[in-house]
Amino acid sequence: MSAAHGVSVRSRGERSLIHDSGTQATVARLRADTPACENVVHFDNAGSALPPRPVVDRVIRHLRREEQIGGYLAADEVRDELADGYAALARLVGARPEEIAVTDSATRSWVSVFTGVSWREGDRVLTAASEYSSNLIAMFEAARERGVRVERVPSAADGDVDVDALSAMLDDRVRMVAITHAPTNGGLVQPVERIGAALGDHPALFLVDACQSIGQLPLDLDTVNADALSATGRKYLRAPRGTGFLAVRGSALEDLTPVHVDLDSAWLEDGRVRLRGDARRFELFERNVAAVLGLGEAARYYLDVGPEWVHEYVTGLAEHLRERLTELSDVEVTDIGSCRSGIVSFRAHTVPARELVARLKERGVHATVSRASSTPWDMGDRELDELVRASVHYYNTPDEVARFCAEVASMLR
Ligand SMILES: *Cc1c(COP(=O)(O)O)cnc(C)c1O
Repeated sequence: MSAAHGVSVRSRGERSLIHDSGTQATVARLRADTPACENVVHFDNAGSALPPRPVVDRVIRHLRREEQIGGYLAADEVRDELADGYAALARLVGARPEEIAVTDSATRSWVSVFTGVSWREGDRVLTAASEYSSNLIAMFEAARERGVRVERVPSAADGDVDVDALSAMLDDRVRMVAITHAPTNGGLVQPVERIGAALGDHPALFLVDACQSIGQLPLDLDTVNADALSATGRKYLRAPRGTGFLAVRGSALEDLTPVHVDLDSAWLEDGRVRLRGDARRFELFERNVAAVLGLGEAARYYLDVGPEWVHEYVTGLAEHLRERLTELSDVEVTDIGSCRSGIVSFRAHTVPARELVARLKERGVHATVSRASSTPWDMGDRELDELVRASVHYYNTPDEVARFCAEVASMLR
């Protein structure tokens, strides 16, 4: 199974990297960069991770500079560093810097691409059960306003999207295939490489929501054969809140016309609007420069830590957490799919998810509740209402897994 698909479930029980002494030294060093690790067990990395010290310092330093000389001059001083941030984000996903747009969230990124398509009545969009609700909302709006047909590709028995079924649904009316790589409500990692291979040269735009996968597993636009990918800063990438980015292949750009443009993404020429030729046609002029510097710092930090190692560690630790939770008699781990991410979802039959999460928080243990409203199709299919989501990162440890499970066990009735 290739790396970009997550660690195969079949690797369960194999000797894991997480207990290795060299690994423990690395993790200790990374924890030292993350001072809050001393105080909390942060298993909410799918919600908003703890940013590392260098990221926070970078943001604050820029705000101090703005305090001294004003935002414009402060931005002029960091022009090269800002450009380097685009290069780092590009390296992260195997794109060119001109194929990157910095935004303020994953949703902004995704919606910019989706609404940038000149939808026609009868155009088809194929998506999967695990799709994120905000994306579905945009699709349903397009259905209502433009007569776009939103179609759901069936899932295979293991919970992955059924790639053969997807292939069989392709025809020349399919304008877009939109897939959430790692859904928000559990450990599934969709086989985006196999989907990309199935699409081959089909002209449909392949849009990947990489919001949960970026920063926890290696991603490469070419390998996935994706045209565009959306991501957020605050989750596994550990960047400041209010940051996100978009990667759009140069080949896909000319067919995408952003709904919102300004003097930075477009200009007037002979009374006509001309759009920038690169992905920054999806940006507007104004931004939180300090946060964008933090995003670049976070991308470099992650590349330094090493995406392959991060992936192996995070999936190993998550699998360890699943095994330990499964030992608790009242607990049901609800993750599906042939490959798994760092997101662990479960429910306890005697205690509601929101109560568990609230009581964990009182003890400095952070998890979140995944509600059906975030992934309505998948949760509806499986008749799930609320789940506990515990999402681990490379700065989490097996000791924290033990603590987490002990706390959960103490709350069960
Ligand atoms: C969190 C999440 C989003 C939304 O990210 P924002 O940065 O809040 O817009 C989109 N897709 C998935 C799969 C998510 O988990």
